[in-house]
Amino acid sequence: MSAVVIDGKAFAAKVRGQVAGHVAQLVRDHGITPGLAVVLVGSDPASEVYVKSKGKMTVEVGMLSVEHKLPVDTAEADLLALIAKLNADPKIHGILVQLPLPGHLNSELVINSIDPAKDVDGFHISNVGLLGTGQKSMVPCTPLGCLMMLRDHHGSLSGLNAVVVGRSNIVGKPMAQLLLGDSCTVTIAHSRTKDLAAVCRGADILVAAVGRPEMITGDYVKSGATVIDVGINRIERDGKTKLVGDAEFASCAAVAGAITPVPGGVGPMTIACLLANTLTACCRANGLAEPEGLTA
Ligand code: NDP
Repeated sequence: MSAVVIDGKAFAAKVRGQVAGHVAQLVRDHGITPGLAVVLVGSDPASEVYVKSKGKMTVEVGMLSVEHKLPVDTAEADLLALIAKLNADPKIHGILVQLPLPGHLNSELVINSIDPAKDVDGFHISNVGLLGTGQKSMVPCTPLGCLMMLRDHHGSLSGLNAVVVGRSNIVGKPMAQLLLGDSCTVTIAHSRTKDLAAVCRGADILVAAVGRPEMITGDYVKSGATVIDVGINRIERDGKTKLVGDAEFASCAAVAGAITPVPGGVGPMTIACLLANTLTACCRANGLAEPEGLTA
């Protein structure tokens, strides 16, 4: 293996430390505690794990953490009423509705009912539009985490060729916008892309956000490229459940210059960026300077 392994766990701990430092300063100098409300509808086990871990880390950085757990059959009107209450609550600076929502709820309607200034997931249509037009917005957490790691590793990204495999609204599209914002030459690939391996081999930065275990192998990677593996896939191997990315680590690491592992790469950055976004939202709401290095 020749690639540098980008340690997302350590980097996320550093980001959370920076957030905690800013929070302490906000409390000390302004008497303001940033607050994050997480809304979970139903009892999907994976979502419950995420929500618990978000709550724990929110408290650890000194923020107010509020959890609303609603029954699976919650009526849309009741969920919208809760969001309206949180929108109006001055103690709450960030609102996150855990996805996926049960089928009877209209996710787009629910997400677009969040005050865009409190939309720390960056999924509100206003934030999508602001990001797309290069204006100040709330940026989706996973792509923001990828961008932070890339900036940390490369310094300037200007002029680099970036290929993003995947065009979802949550990862692929915002990732491409962010890379464009940092002056990369960006290609978005997807399931209809012809000769994907050849397209990927043109990349100085290759972001895999496909949702297919170990699909990107070493022959998709240009020598010395940086591979950011967003994928989280649970597979059975040798009778055990294993977590793997969308990139096959060993063959990619043999060719790449740098690579994020799974687990311990992009994953930990997502919650760190949620906290960073909550801090940013709080600073904006109070007319204070935004924390440097924690936004796009
Ligand atoms: P989606 O399923 O919404 O999107 C997958 C994308 O990959 C689609 O655009 C699809 O193309 C494309 N794709 C699928 N198959 C192929 C193929 N054979 N060749 C080329 N492109 C293909 O997934 P998400 O964006 O939500 O998530 C992607 C991965 O990231 C998943 O593994 C997910 O678990 C992980 N993830 C990790 C997070 C983290 O915190 N680290 C957070 C969010 C997601 P098309 O549009 O043509 O169908």
